[in-house]
Amino acid sequence: MLRVCRGYCGADAVERGITGAEAMPFLVKPLLAAIANALFPARCIGCGQLFRRQALAKVDGNQEQDAGCVLSDYFCPACSGQWSAVTSPLCSRCGMVFKSRVGSDHFCGRCLERPGAFTRARAAGVYDGTLRIAIQALKFRGHTRLANPLGRLLFATYRRYWPVGDIDLIAPVPLHRRRFRRRGFNQAFLLVKAWPLSDETVVVRDLLTRNRPTPPQTGLDRRQRRSNIKNAFCVSRTGESTGKRILLVDDVLTTGATVEACAAALLKDGARRVDVLTLARA
Ligand SMILES: [Zn+2]
Ligand SMILES: [Zn+2]
Repeated sequence: MLRVCRGYCGADAVERGITGAEAMPFLVKPLLAAIANALFPARCIGCGQLFRRQALAKVDGNQEQDAGCVLSDYFCPACSGQWSAVTSPLCSRCGMVFKSRVGSDHFCGRCLERPGAFTRARAAGVYDGTLRIAIQALKFRGHTRLANPLGRLLFATYRRYWPVGDIDLIAPVPLHRRRFRRRGFNQAFLLVKAWPLSDETVVVRDLLTRNRPTPPQTGLDRRQRRSNIKNAFCVSRTGESTGKRILLVDDVLTTGATVEACAAALLKDGARRVDVLTLARA
């Protein structure tokens, strides 16, 4: 059973670069992977059970939009299915999923009341189940190998909502340098670094800077989050965003306070439009 390269070889999720495994001859790597899989089952990141990975003969566009499929090397079949895609009806602006499952997309009450800086936000899935475990494992437990499948899921979501040529710059939401040093990587950058983008769209890793450390947003309400994060970001490459359509990328969107602050800084610098893409919507 040979595993098919999904076009992301070498995106081993460590910012500083590529592993030596890439130097392996074309057929040896998948063959060794198949033998290793047969001899050594994987341990599910979700439930901790041992399981055998199922080789996917062919990965199509639909499977790339399925968190269960892209994470199937890391989660057992039972855990892989425990996730929910973001589907309509949702808020046309902030992407919030409405509890009612009938009707079409429309603005939620908050967006009607206070439209905010970014134009629209979209996410691959609801911040729950396997997707939540995978994001937390990447961020807090250092499972950087998950950046590859999660990055593919995010890229499929990007292609679903933004046509080719609709975005000029992709900017990962930055961490404060102290948190970056402690973590060793910015998960938002890891998610986009291997994207197979067309020439006109570029990833600008340091477009924004987090100019002061902000306490974790967890446990704060919407108003507290907004004041906690206000003026926390500045544009480090002044003028680069002028006239550009920018996509901000992050792992999770909760109240939107962080991306609002980023979008406000970019618009102030002259950005034409700021959109937001995250893996998950809380
Ligand atoms: Zn499991
Ligand atoms: Zn909304």
